[in-house]
Amino acid sequence: MNLILLGPPGAGKGTQAKFICKKYDIPHISTGEMFRKNIAEKTYLGMLVKEYTDKGNLVPDHITIKIVDERIRETDCKKGFLLDGFPRTITQAEALDTLLKKYNLVINRVLFIAVSNEVVIERNVGRRVCSSCGASFHIRFNPSRLLNKCDYCLGELTQREDDTISALNNRLAVYKLQTKPLIAYYRSNKLLSKIDGACSAEIVFQNIETALGHY
Ligand code: AMP
Repeated sequence: MNLILLGPPGAGKGTQAKFICKKYDIPHISTGEMFRKNIAEKTYLGMLVKEYTDKGNLVPDHITIKIVDERIRETDCKKGFLLDGFPRTITQAEALDTLLKKYNLVINRVLFIAVSNEVVIERNVGRRVCSSCGASFHIRFNPSRLLNKCDYCLGELTQREDDTISALNNRLAVYKLQTKPLIAYYRSNKLLSKIDGACSAEIVFQNIETALGHY
């Protein structure tokens, strides 16, 4: 089963991606994670994309499409995959259609997790991520047991560069302008399931399971 997770920053895509990939046994392909990993490892790609991700701007389409093309050809994707944070522009969606055709694949469902702007801001600005293992916390909704220390590995909790209020406002503007049109794109393809993302993570996942039905 090949899936796309769509939604604004802070919709809970990362959390749901983990639940989905575990239950359906498919790899999680997060372009944001791939970029962050490359930045942390100071690779050529990482250095290339850092100026975009830090400000909350989109990485140019040709770079993003190339890394997705390479990733979906890896053997673990034979059993299916979940794309999280890709596509984010109509150009990327069209490029994905071309790739899928080339590899004889289809997207089975696009899960659009909908949340209001207020929820997005509250979730993102309070998010803290372990600089060691990547575990995610929230200062209000899911605080770590020790202040600024990860529950799992005691690593330092930090705020993502792009979770600051100025970067976040930019990410929201970018989302509205460039990513929101994908809702109509996938609705017209009859692939879209809209999921209310304001409920608890468990309820959101139950609604996703219902939307995926027999898979
Ligand atoms: P995310 O973790 O999905 O919020 O992504 C973090 C950042 O990575 C975004 O703000 C963009 O700068 C970059 N990024 C992730 N996915 C894409 C994409 N599909 N197209 C362009 N830039 C992306």
